[in-house]
Amino acid sequence: MDLHKIFLDDSLYTEYDINSFTEEELLNILFHNESSTVNKIKTLDSYCPICEKETTLISSDITTSNFREVLLQINERYIGSESNLNTFLEECGTFERIFKCPRPNSNSTHSHIYIFRIKNSKLIKIGQSPSLADLAKKEIEKYRAFNENIYKELNRAIGLSSYGIGVGSFVYLRRIIEKHIVSPILQDLLEKGDITEDDLFQSDFKKKIDLAKNYLPEFLIENKKIYSILSKGIHQLEEKECNYLFPILKTSIEIILDEKIEKQKRELKNKLIAQQLNNFK
Ligand SMILES: [Zn+2]
Repeated sequence: MDLHKIFLDDSLYTEYDINSFTEEELLNILFHNESSTVNKIKTLDSYCPICEKETTLISSDITTSNFREVLLQINERYIGSESNLNTFLEECGTFERIFKCPRPNSNSTHSHIYIFRIKNSKLIKIGQSPSLADLAKKEIEKYRAFNENIYKELNRAIGLSSYGIGVGSFVYLRRIIEKHIVSPILQDLLEKGDITEDDLFQSDFKKKIDLAKNYLPEFLIENKKIYSILSKGIHQLEEKECNYLFPILKTSIEIILDEKIEKQKRELKNKLIAQQLNNFK
């Protein structure tokens, strides 16, 4: 399993069966570990919202107990029994991991903090600061200039997903496709008389995508499934399944938006150059 993903990508309250980790992996997630030979999470490649820069944050040892102390305690109290390790970790309450921003002049406000607990043999990330939504803001900033409404809906989707509200996050992603990408094109086609009110009324959404296909981003046409998965998520899937699928669908929507931005830039450039050519007598 990619342990960094638990810190950087997965939403709060995602549950991991602790038996899916080795003992060493589990302790590496929960505790700062000085030793570089067994340390798997000494750094996190992420973003510092205060420096406004990509940053490799460094695990810090100011947490209450560190890896070595815990191993000693476990060895003293619970020799050789896996279920006893689980009991010990459950009894610990919460686990705090702190990663510091290494840039000069940074202070504790730059740090990333992650809180975990173990409950019923499950590892659960119960808190993090900055939130996934704060970290994603930079990534989606470019969509604000393209379309403020799309930016807002995407921001809400990421915010909900970061708190484990998977179904709710799907609603906002689906609105982006329906309301902000497909509907404006259908409206144009209707006004031009290329399609009729009946076409719109009688078609399910996949057919509507077909009606607008000459004007939609290729990625959406080739992957109409994006829309079906979003609808299925809203009507049938569990929160957990939606949370699992969210990063894939978010990236799909980003690809669709990038395609639209690229097209807009190309059209602007073409128009500008055509104008300059026309000016040349
Ligand atoms: Zn920083």
